[in-house]
Amino acid sequence: MARDYYGILGVDRSATDQEIKKAYRKLARKYHPDVNDTDEAAEKFREASVAHEVLTDPEKRRIVDMGGDPMEQGGGQPSGGGGGFGDIFEAFFGGGAGGGSRGPRSRVQPGNDALLRTAITLEEAYAGVKQEITVDTAILCDHCEGTGSKSKARPTTCGTCHGSGEVQQVERTFLGNVMTSRPCGTCSGYGEIIADPCEKCGSAGRVKARRDLVVNIPAGIDDGMRIRMAGQGEVGQGGGPAGDLYVEVATRRHKIFSREGNDLHLTVKVPMFDAALGADFQVEDLAGEKVSVTISPGTQPGQEIRLEGEGMPQLRSQNFGDLIAHVDVVIPTELDDTSRDLLTQLRDHRAEASSVRSEDDGEESLFSRLRNRFRR
Ligand SMILES: [Zn+2]
Ligand SMILES: [Zn+2]
Repeated sequence: MARDYYGILGVDRSATDQEIKKAYRKLARKYHPDVNDTDEAAEKFREASVAHEVLTDPEKRRIVDMGGDPMEQGGGQPSGGGGGFGDIFEAFFGGGAGGGSRGPRSRVQPGNDALLRTAITLEEAYAGVKQEITVDTAILCDHCEGTGSKSKARPTTCGTCHGSGEVQQVERTFLGNVMTSRPCGTCSGYGEIIADPCEKCGSAGRVKARRDLVVNIPAGIDDGMRIRMAGQGEVGQGGGPAGDLYVEVATRRHKIFSREGNDLHLTVKVPMFDAALGADFQVEDLAGEKVSVTISPGTQPGQEIRLEGEGMPQLRSQNFGDLIAHVDVVIPTELDDTSRDLLTQLRDHRAEASSVRSEDDGEESLFSRLRNRFRR
């Protein structure tokens, strides 16, 4: 069970380093053994010190944010007796570059996650697609198999710090004499030394490499969604376990369809005669299948026709969204003599009909007058 380091310090998950340090100082003033010598205070101070150490170390904080506990997987050691004094010194006076300085740093760290973006067509989002992607990440060094050592020998204990990864000194402060710790310079705080560093990776245990992978993009995937490929991220320092690779999918614009959630929208151009009389149209869906759209008599511009279940497939489901056809009524712009005659006849016929209807309507009669004038 991962400890709630944010809760211990009483800060938000989004807290800045400054806010974390501030919260820690507040607790330290209350619970520091020099101020409060009860066992309860000592425990609270210890807890706060660990939380401060974890949350001000970007690598450890990242592990916490991923739901892990960096103090439980060899990323550091829970502070035992005598711990905590280095940190309070750092919190008050700064310094101590290199972050948490209790116990040897682990040479082996979990690898970072990687993020890659890829673009697909709407047809591919509709049907799903296997796509080949190229990834630049760190992989395990094959010369040393991640050990960092040319002979693949185990590291030896550092002679300067005797494996603790830190050297200690006493500082005089307003809290009295405070024991501070600094990372050991000989071993960079690892507590161990690689006698024959691997030439290929410079003892890092990992190297940059380009790989081709196939990502399985499921039908119904939406713009901006990410697919997680476990263990395909970056191999960690010292050959630590690889992070995950996330592939973020962007959908290219489609000529005909636009997408909103699982619904597809398209505009159908309907000749005004068909809008008035009604008609059946066929459109091709994203799988290339014909779908009928029925225009009922008297359909208006901008009217929407919804075809249930003809939209995008829903992720991990058998259901589909809807297809929504937006009607755009097309008025003819070039008329031959016959068409003009027929339309004029129709208008005259309709005008008579409407003038009968609009006797008591002042606005309508104004409209009729303008129309009559235009006719001449
Ligand atoms: Zn050392
Ligand atoms: Zn190597």
